[in-house]
Amino acid sequence: MEKIRLGRTGLMVSRSGFGAIPIQRLDKNDAGRFNTLVPIWGIQFERELDEFIALEKNPPPLDDAMRRVIATDRAELAGDFCRGCGYCLPCPAGIPISQAARMFLLLRRTLVSRFLTDEWKRDMAKIRECQECGHCREQCPYELDTPALLKMMLADYEEFLEKLPQS
Ligand code: SF4
Ligand code: SF4
Repeated sequence: MEKIRLGRTGLMVSRSGFGAIPIQRLDKNDAGRFNTLVPIWGIQFERELDEFIALEKNPPPLDDAMRRVIATDRAELAGDFCRGCGYCLPCPAGIPISQAARMFLLLRRTLVSRFLTDEWKRDMAKIRECQECGHCREQCPYELDTPALLKMMLADYEEFLEKLPQS
């Protein structure tokens, strides 16, 4: 079984192991070699597991509304999508990369007020202090161009702040 190094942990794991390889990097030949491949969704709560199990008896119709949801999710979650794994840390400029590199989604899919604090504004501003050392890019198991991604996130973050209604 082929082994790879798992990010900055240095652990050697099976290439098909949990978290070792993003599904989009598997080609047909790879997928055919392993009979134990299991896609794992991010489930945090038991109720989410219950929802998944219930789908077997009551599968939702794949209608136009569902296709639109899928298209939106695919556009937001594919490509330059930081998974927040943190293998790129630590950053010498002190940038909290594992959250900053997915700020676009955190602002739109989570409790936004958490990321509008003065502390977060300072943390996002640290992106300007990126030393271009390349450490994050080298360690990212998803081969993201992390420094470039962070700059995009900062531009979006500042635009988001500007558009907020003034209190
Ligand atoms: S390239 Fe920039 S963001 Fe990445 S680890 Fe170095 S200083 Fe931090
Ligand atoms: S940039 Fe890459 S290594 Fe860093 S948190 Fe995101 S996915 Fe993980």
